[in-house]
Amino acid sequence: MSDKIFFTPGPAHLYPTVSTHIQTALKEDIGSISHRSKQFHGIYQHSAEQLRTLMGIPSGFQVLFLGSATEIWERSIESLVQKKSFHFVNGSFSKRYFEIAQLLQKDSQKIEATFGQGFNIETTQIPSDAELVCVTSNETSSGVYMPENEINEVKEKAPNSLLIVDAVSSVPYPKFDFTKVDSVLFSVQKAFGLPAGLGVWIVNDKCIEKANKLKASGKYSGTYHNLIALVDGAKKFETPATPNVLNMYLLGKVAEDMNRVGVEKLRSLTNQKAEMTYSFLEKSPTFEPFVKEITHRSPTVIVADCQLPAAEIIELGKKDGLVIGSGYGAF
Ligand SMILES: *Cc1c(COP(=O)(O)O)cnc(C)c1O
Repeated sequence: MSDKIFFTPGPAHLYPTVSTHIQTALKEDIGSISHRSKQFHGIYQHSAEQLRTLMGIPSGFQVLFLGSATEIWERSIESLVQKKSFHFVNGSFSKRYFEIAQLLQKDSQKIEATFGQGFNIETTQIPSDAELVCVTSNETSSGVYMPENEINEVKEKAPNSLLIVDAVSSVPYPKFDFTKVDSVLFSVQKAFGLPAGLGVWIVNDKCIEKANKLKASGKYSGTYHNLIALVDGAKKFETPATPNVLNMYLLGKVAEDMNRVGVEKLRSLTNQKAEMTYSFLEKSPTFEPFVKEITHRSPTVIVADCQLPAAEIIELGKKDGLVIGSGYGAF
């Protein structure tokens, strides 16, 4: 690897142990084994178990593997919504999830916050017929974080809807309350520091029940990564199609490394680094934090406003091997 350091939200800098694990994977023929073999079942099981430990996922939840987070947006709408989903939109990613629901011809609704701001959950009206409520743990495009207590509040406001959390650029940092959250989705190239090309979808029994209900009423798309097929596969540690075996292997190994450090330690290191970065931005005459509300500042994706043109700063960083993200969409 080069000696560049990537300060990019995703793909991000690889976790330090990835390179060794890739070499071991090659020695173990991970790229050639059958996805119906015992060896693969072991990889699936190991990866799911390490994630359960790292994220505190209870046994009643299934851990499913797909192609990307974007794919899971689509599959979750197809498998969990007949008519209506409700979306908390405050940036490019949460907006895209909402648009996918519209493209799938659902009668979906949203509440929209100004770019760079969080939500006031207390005053938000969630329609009582929303079958799925979609929130984003960390809106990567703006650096706005939705703290876990706010996610729990959303469930308290809409106890009869399924609650799904897009946690692509924050997992494994957040400590989700799985008695409140019905589903979590993420991909691995952001806060996990793995190569891109793997999506992880965590679902509880209520999600599976809902998919079965849609199926019974003939309102169900049976495409290859539908929830029912994924869950049937997971029971034997298999996937409906040939998956990204190498990345599933790497995820299991990296999650194991992270478990060795301990998730509480990872959280506190992340908090320390975020505090140092935000306090630098606040003191610096050149920068300021883009997100003004302290409770909504992301600890994993830190966005700065700059006095100089961003392109100049990015160019300066390059000279020292620092690759800085240039922003997203209109910003
Ligand atoms: C990057 C990102 C996605 C999309 O992830 P893909 O793996 O590219 O599909 C979705 N949601 C959030 C919050 C993201 O940051």
